[in-house]
Amino acid sequence: MRKNRRVVMGFKDFKIEVNKKNILHNYEYLKRLRNKEIIAVVKANAYGHGIKNIVSLLSEHGCKYFAVARECEAEKILELKLKNVNILILETIEDLNFLKQNKNVEMVINSFKDLLFLLESDISTEQLHLKLDFGFGRNGVVESDFSKLKKLILEKNLKFKGICTHVFAADYEDMLIVEKKFNNILSELDKERFDIIHMQNSAGVISIEGAGCTHIRCGTILFGLQEIGYYDPNIKRAFKLIGKILDIKDLNDLKYIGYEKKEKITLTENKKIAKIRLGYGDGFSKRGEGIMSIINNKKFEIVHISMDSSFILVDESVKEGDFIEIFYDLEDSIKYLKVPHYEFLSCINERIKREII
Ligand SMILES: *Cc1c(COP(=O)(O)O)cnc(C)c1O
Repeated sequence: MRKNRRVVMGFKDFKIEVNKKNILHNYEYLKRLRNKEIIAVVKANAYGHGIKNIVSLLSEHGCKYFAVARECEAEKILELKLKNVNILILETIEDLNFLKQNKNVEMVINSFKDLLFLLESDISTEQLHLKLDFGFGRNGVVESDFSKLKKLILEKNLKFKGICTHVFAADYEDMLIVEKKFNNILSELDKERFDIIHMQNSAGVISIEGAGCTHIRCGTILFGLQEIGYYDPNIKRAFKLIGKILDIKDLNDLKYIGYEKKEKITLTENKKIAKIRLGYGDGFSKRGEGIMSIINNKKFEIVHISMDSSFILVDESVKEGDFIEIFYDLEDSIKYLKVPHYEFLSCINERIKREII
């Protein structure tokens, strides 16, 4: 055999297929919906869709702003060496030299104390977005510090790259209150101090207009992962977690399924055990035991999950090499796992390839 020839046994690994057309559709749709530019939030490996693929795809189609939560996520985008792309880090980072060394990296100011420290440390306000918190208590300058903040900004005539707030998944009425309060402060401070103004995450984009803002700042909805209660029928899902059946064994010949004694597993009329190459080592949590998979348009239960493989109770119709899809029914999966889709999806780690198709 020649040395460098690739020898392939046939594809059996799992992968996440990302539908390019649907992502681009959501991107264009959201831009038009609120008539604003998009800051694409690509934290947590673009909610599991693969940060590098997604950033490359969206930047090719005109997206200039990406937001992440961590410095290491910004580094991944920087590795792509894209021109005309700004990266906004939503959380406060530790190493401020990172901002000094990368002029296209920007950061959100998450408290009044942070602002003082950033100014003292000579970080250019051209790389900073001031964040105001209207009572979510997560991040941002709190309302009790607003008068100090106003005084400082006016005294020093500070200009920033951006200003923002967050509406999270508040009630519609609460969102309107935030929108109003935010606009009041904007006029007090003078809008001209800020190049870009943003407020809405996905729920906010669906619910309110975002008066006064230049950008929307959304993640889940861009990937078609809709929050229950904020559903927009025009948004399209983009991911598919698929693989192939590795092998099939007869239940009668087995004492154990994975590491589990056969007796511990509630069996049905299905008498075959199919093995797949996906386990909790790939970020597919053991909590998924009992969840349904789809093989040839039929639902089959995943009965055991180990580190590298999982086992499904199947019938005679299922053959080695058949395609299997996990999390096909998102609503069912959310109900069963009792966590949102963006949580279990972003847990799938880098052992699973992401493929844009
Ligand atoms: C994660 C995050 C977003 C995106 O939220 P989605 O609900 O996924 O759109 C927006 N803004 C901030 C500050 C965030 O942390």
